[in-house]
Amino acid sequence: MSHNTKLLTIYASIAGVILLAGLGYSIYQYKETAKKLGDTQSRLTLSIEKIVELEKQNEELGGTLSLTQSEKEELGGALAKQKEENEELEEEKDMYEKLAKTDKQLLAKYSKVYFLNENYFPTKLDDIDEKYVLPVGKKLEFLDPALPYLEDLLEDAEEDGMPLRIVSSYRSFEEQQSLKSSYKVMYGSGANTFSADQGYSEHQLGTTVDFATPQVPGAMGAFANTASFTWLQENAHKYGFILSYPKSNSYYIYEPWHWRFVGEDLARDLYKDKKNFYDMDQREIDEYLIKIFD
Ligand SMILES: [Zn+2]
Repeated sequence: MSHNTKLLTIYASIAGVILLAGLGYSIYQYKETAKKLGDTQSRLTLSIEKIVELEKQNEELGGTLSLTQSEKEELGGALAKQKEENEELEEEKDMYEKLAKTDKQLLAKYSKVYFLNENYFPTKLDDIDEKYVLPVGKKLEFLDPALPYLEDLLEDAEEDGMPLRIVSSYRSFEEQQSLKSSYKVMYGSGANTFSADQGYSEHQLGTTVDFATPQVPGAMGAFANTASFTWLQENAHKYGFILSYPKSNSYYIYEPWHWRFVGEDLARDLYKDKKNFYDMDQREIDEYLIKIFD
């Protein structure tokens, strides 16, 4: 085995382990939600049984003269408490059901070794209003439940005199592959540091856009010097958007044009705490998943 082959084998093994760890965590998360939902459901069944029983007791004994006032109160209290517990369990059940239905990839952190595969497709895509798209006539799509947030952002930016245009949004696995190879042709083997190996999966989610302005029409570094970019930095969080790869981040090149929808709660907290999405712990991020479209 040549030195290079050995090195490659080592790299491949490391990548494999990290990939498996990521995959394992997703499966674990999914199973955890399913398990919690199951637990809540059985507790709810028990609670309903108890209520039925208490109501029966109440009815049977309520009319009995021999029952003292305090005994009656005790019985009524037990019933009220059980009903309250039941309501809480119902709420818990709704929450786990909602969580089980929410796409966990929407808040996943991606890297060169943890990314979406060719079988991942967003649940539903919608067209972005063509008046915001560059070049004119290009068809761009965005994840359906997140589109209203993007539309609000675009409208408000326009009203504030900070027009924004979108030059890229949803990209399928195949589109991304061909984009990557064209970068490689243009820039040689250094393409990996330039092309979006990481941003790649974010675009495949359908919740990420590359912004430009009518004056600076391409997604490029110069976008950082526009007033529209400053507006985004101050306001994007109100619409649930974050800058995935900010200046001097430690995980990827600076991409001022590349913004991802993560939901209003998470975006607001990141803005408030001056934190980066990719610096956060995945488990901490996942707590926001349930409220992503609220
Ligand atoms: Zn991008």
